[in-house]
Amino acid sequence: SVKQQGRNNYQVYTPAIGNNAQERLQLEHNLYKALEREEFVLYYQPQISLQTGEIISMEALLRWHSGELGWIPPAQFIPLAEESTLINSIGEWVVQEACRQIGEWHSLNLPPIQISVNLSARQFQDKKLLSKIARILKNTNINSSYLELEITETIAMQDMDLTIAILNNFRKLGIQIAIDDFGTGYSSLSSLKHFPIDKLKIDRSFVRELTIGSQDAAIVKAIIALGQGLNLEVTAEGIETEEQLDFLRSVNCDFGQGYFLSYPLPVEAAQKLLKKHRLIQFKSA
Ligand code: C2E
Ligand code: MG
Ligand code: MG
Ligand code: MG
Repeated sequence: SVKQQGRNNYQVYTPAIGNNAQERLQLEHNLYKALEREEFVLYYQPQISLQTGEIISMEALLRWHSGELGWIPPAQFIPLAEESTLINSIGEWVVQEACRQIGEWHSLNLPPIQISVNLSARQFQDKKLLSKIARILKNTNINSSYLELEITETIAMQDMDLTIAILNNFRKLGIQIAIDDFGTGYSSLSSLKHFPIDKLKIDRSFVRELTIGSQDAAIVKAIIALGQGLNLEVTAEGIETEEQLDFLRSVNCDFGQGYFLSYPLPVEAAQKLLKKHRLIQFKSA
């Protein structure tokens, strides 16, 4: 469909492969080769300030273009990679590439922005993760506050004491932390105050049916109030319409991300946007 094309814009995904055992095996086999064949790329989706319309960060979203299978979406290959230690080497590549990109944009004198990188559960449990990231930061020589790591609420809640310890170590390195897909997991509110985090990302399921007076509007307002009370920044994900954007601005949500603002973009297009810096000119800004 047109909408589907619009969504993927720069890549046409191969329709549902990996459904039967043989396809799955083939997928897995190709995934093992993907790193050395340099088949991964990062796409970048802007997050903007809902006050000024300026781009404040880019979320790095992994794309796999398999020579044999075509474009495979992350929802198909990341769960597979997570079943083995493969996710650790793929994840390390993502951090390396994101940090290299931060350095490159910096050297091109583009407006300073963060890049955020998603971490999977298995990576988060990897005892060497901290030292790997520390080494990448050292080698790429970037200011670590430009790197943000996203972990989902579900990952954060698995072992709270461990999570707090790991997050504190990231913090000591100067890295920012966001809780992704917030509202869909089972965080107790009391646990949240113990997490050394910087940002909550409201899951897009609450944004989808945001209309004034709706239940989702009440939830979104509550999360924003929670963020303000705990001194956390709040990003709304999945903004697809102007109405959603207007609502989120009216309730003082800090940041927004979604197809209405920008699709995830290949690096050249993301860089072009960064030069413009301001993604939207708000009438009142
Ligand atoms: P996520 O971290 O919650 O990323 C947001 C997802 O929502 C992305 O899907 C993005 O393309 C999509 N999205 C953005 N705006 C809109 C919108 O307005 N409407 C809708 N319907 N969707 C929107 P994508 O790129 O397919 O990634 C899916 C998930 O795969 C990510 O969810 C993240 O959990 C995971 N992922 C992506 N890249 C990586 C990575 O490098 N490492 C790990 N571990 N996971 C990753
Ligand atoms: Mg994310
Ligand atoms: Mg998310
Ligand atoms: Mg997610």
